[in-house]
Amino acid sequence: MTTDLLARATDALPTLMHDLERLVTCESPTADLAAVAAGANLVDVMGAGYLGSAAERIVVDGRTHLRWRLGGDTGPRVLIVCHQDTVWPIGTLQRLPFRVEDGIVYGPGCFDMKTGLAMAFHALRLLGAPQTLPSVTLLVTGDEEIGSPTSRQLIEDEARQSSAAFVLEASGNGGALKTGRKGVSLFRVSAFGRASHAGLEPEKGLNAAVEIAGQVLAINGLGDPAAGTSVVPSVLSAGTTSNTVPAAATLMVDSRAWTVAEQQRVQAAMTSLQPTVPGARVEVTGGINRPPMEPAGSQTLFALAEELSSQIGSGALQQISVGGGSDGNFTAGVGCPTLDGMGAVGGGAHADSEHVIVEEIPRRTALLAGLIDAVCSGAAVR
Ligand SMILES: [Zn+2]
Repeated sequence: MTTDLLARATDALPTLMHDLERLVTCESPTADLAAVAAGANLVDVMGAGYLGSAAERIVVDGRTHLRWRLGGDTGPRVLIVCHQDTVWPIGTLQRLPFRVEDGIVYGPGCFDMKTGLAMAFHALRLLGAPQTLPSVTLLVTGDEEIGSPTSRQLIEDEARQSSAAFVLEASGNGGALKTGRKGVSLFRVSAFGRASHAGLEPEKGLNAAVEIAGQVLAINGLGDPAAGTSVVPSVLSAGTTSNTVPAAATLMVDSRAWTVAEQQRVQAAMTSLQPTVPGARVEVTGGINRPPMEPAGSQTLFALAEELSSQIGSGALQQISVGGGSDGNFTAGVGCPTLDGMGAVGGGAHADSEHVIVEEIPRRTALLAGLIDAVCSGAAVR
């Protein structure tokens, strides 16, 4: 199986590039529900061609997600996680058209992560005819770029039933797989005081802006750089008019941590913040949004990927841990061994310089196919 995967993936490259062009030229910004639905339609039709059946369509709050459950119900099941939404608004193609120049693909969403999506179809194709495919669940969601509010449940449910998850997000620098991601917590801090005229009787007010200022400084001290924990006061607002003592103020806080223990420490500290202005009130809402993907959970799977990569001829593999979150946080968070960043090699995610290196595509596709086959055949994953 592994010996000819790379040759067959290379033969299929022109077809994959044609699929990629169709995906990139169908713009699918997360914020535009109709565009996300149109993107899902295209992916569904394309997938039916490769997988022998249309997807199950799961619509949550008007947002369309696709699921293919392939193969039988015995033996290990592999979960492949893709998203087809992008951060690029409709019309971006006019400014950044799809094109291939000197072996590099450009276009909105090519790196994050439409190439990964095309690779998933082609990797499954390499494994055989639709009716002979191993036990694989392929999810293609439509809200990853806003934190997967409507697909999280689906992703976690599928991960619980799977032996391993492969997330087709863009790779790290030089093609590194992502085996660690920080967990993300989001908080909203509200301060409540009392309004009064800033000129006539300021002493009758309770200044919520002053209160929140004290909280900004306290919160700024909650991080632990040595542990890699950041706690960042970010969006801040207070008051109504320049001549009114502010009655209310709000602060958004973004916190990232490598471990659940650190997330819980920050959560405990945030929820026990006390007011500093006598009479003012402070309220904290929010909390842990994505659990961390802790590298320990992926090491057996990464070792398998290294071994397969050298057998297939896909070259040496690197692994990295990153601060940004993805759906890999959710699959790893429910205990499913996860390799993330399995998709395209390139750079410029969410930037005008977004690009993908064409010659890496067959290697990555072959590696994904080899990994699916190995896990479904019973290779150790933990
Ligand atoms: Zn992505």
